[in-house]
Amino acid sequence: MSPATATLDVINPATEKPIAHLDRAGAAETDRAVAAAKAAFPAWRAVKPADRVRLLRRVASLVEQHGEELARLETANAGKPLGDSRWEMGMVADVFHFYAGAIDKHYGETIPVAGGVDMTFREPLGVVGLIVPWNFPLMLASWKLGPALACGNTVVLKPAELTPLTALRFAEIALEAGLPEGVVNVVVGPGSTVGERLIAHPDVAKIGFTGSTEVGQRVMEGAARTIKRVTLELGGKSANVIFADADLEKAASSAPGSVFGNAGQDCCARSRILVQKSVYERFTQLLTDATRRFKVGDPEADGTDMGPLISASHRELVASFVDGKTMFKGTVPSGPGFWFPCTLVEASSSDRVAREEVFGPVAAIIPFEDEAEGIRIANDTPYGLSGSVWTRDAARAMRVARAIDTGVLSLNSNTSVRVATPFGGFKQSGFGRELGMHAMDGYSELKNVFLSTEG
Ligand code: NAD
Repeated sequence: MSPATATLDVINPATEKPIAHLDRAGAAETDRAVAAAKAAFPAWRAVKPADRVRLLRRVASLVEQHGEELARLETANAGKPLGDSRWEMGMVADVFHFYAGAIDKHYGETIPVAGGVDMTFREPLGVVGLIVPWNFPLMLASWKLGPALACGNTVVLKPAELTPLTALRFAEIALEAGLPEGVVNVVVGPGSTVGERLIAHPDVAKIGFTGSTEVGQRVMEGAARTIKRVTLELGGKSANVIFADADLEKAASSAPGSVFGNAGQDCCARSRILVQKSVYERFTQLLTDATRRFKVGDPEADGTDMGPLISASHRELVASFVDGKTMFKGTVPSGPGFWFPCTLVEASSSDRVAREEVFGPVAAIIPFEDEAEGIRIANDTPYGLSGSVWTRDAARAMRVARAIDTGVLSLNSNTSVRVATPFGGFKQSGFGRELGMHAMDGYSELKNVFLSTEG
C-alpha cells in the first residue's frame, strides 16, 4: 500500500483511543488494486462451478472459525455491543454459505423461437468496485462480496476509513481459504480519492455502493461517464406504524431495538414511530418504559444493548436534531466515548427530526388518526427502505403493507434482513437488490445466444 499519502489512525469509539495505524491509500494504490483484479479475472471466471462452490464454502467456514476474533475486532472498531458483532459475523458466514450454494443454481433459460434454439446465460461483469459505510462494516461488505464472487467477478473493496479492520482481516481469510491472489482486494482510503477513482476507472464494470443518499448521487453521476452498472443502498427514514388493535406490549418492547439498535446508526432504523391517536397515551408510556430498560454502556460487557456513536463529529450532528419537545432522554456512561442517550421526541411529520435521517438514537413519535392518515404520513418522506406495521387485523396488515412505498416491510415484527430474501430501497433509498438470489442478477450480465437449426 505504498507510497501512502498519510497515516490513518483507527479509533475505538468507546474509549476514543487509537487501536491501529494504517497507511492511507490513494488513487495510485486503487489503480494497482484494479489492475490486480483485472489480471485475476480470466482465471477466476473460468474456475469450475463446483470448485468455486468449495472455495466460497471454505471462506464461510473460516469466517465461522474466526468468528469471535472478527466480532471482537468489529466491536473495538465500530463500538457496537459484542452480542451484535457476533450476530453480524454469523450472518457473514451464512451469506457465504448461501452464495456458495447459489453458484450452480443461477442459470439461464431456453426460449421457444422460430428457426433455432435461443438460450440465455449469466456472465460475470469483470472487476467490480464495492464501497461500504462504517455502520455494519464487514456484514454489508459480505452482502456484496458473496454474490459478486459467486458470479465470477473479481473485486476491489473500499471500506469506510473509520472502520477498515475487519475488511483487511477478511482479505487474509479469503487468501487462506484458497481464493487466488487478486480476486479480493481491499483499499483503505478516503472516498474523495479511492472511491472517486473506483467510480471513474475504465476497468471497473460496476459499483456496488452502500452509504448516504448524497454520496449515492455522486456515484450515479460519476458512473454515467463509463456507463458503469450501479447498485445503490442509501439512507432511510422508516416508519413503525402502530394501530390501536396491535399487541401494544409486544410492539412497544420491540420498538427500542428497532431504532436504538446499533446506536441508531442503521439504514433500517424505524426512526418515525407513528401511533394511532386512540392508544397514543398508553403506547408512549409502554415505549418510554421499554426505552428506559435499553442498556447503554460498555460494548464489551454482557447485556449491553447500545454502545457509543461512531465519532465526535457524528455526535454533534445527531445532537442538532433534538429540540425542546423531548418526551424521554436516557442516561449515558461518564468518561471517554462518543455516547448519546436514547431519545424520544414528539414530532409532526413536517419537523426536521421526522424528515431527515438522524442516524443516531433519536426517535420521532408522530400521532395519526386513521388508516388513511397513517399511510399518508408513512409515505411522507423521500426515502423508502424499511418499516413495520403492527395490527391484529390481517386484511388491514396487507392493505397497509401494499400501500407503503418501501422496499422491505415487516408485519408485527421489526426485523429487516434475512440472507435468502431481497433487500433494497424505493425512492431515494436507492435501487437494485442485495441478498437472496436477486443479488446474483446485480452482479451478472444477461447474454442471449441464438443457435440456428436450419439445414
Ligand atoms: P457515506 O455515504 O458518507 O460513505 C459511504 C462510503 O462511501 C464510505 O466508504 C466513504 O468513504 C465513501 N465515499 C464518500 N465520499 C465518496 C465519494 N465522493 N466517492 C466515492 N465514495 C465515497 O456514508 P456513511 O456516513 O459511511 O454511512 C451512513 C449512511 O449509509 C447513511 O445514510 C445510511 O443510511 C447509509 N446506509 C445504507 C444502507 C442500505 O443498505 N440502504 C446500509 C447502511 C448504511
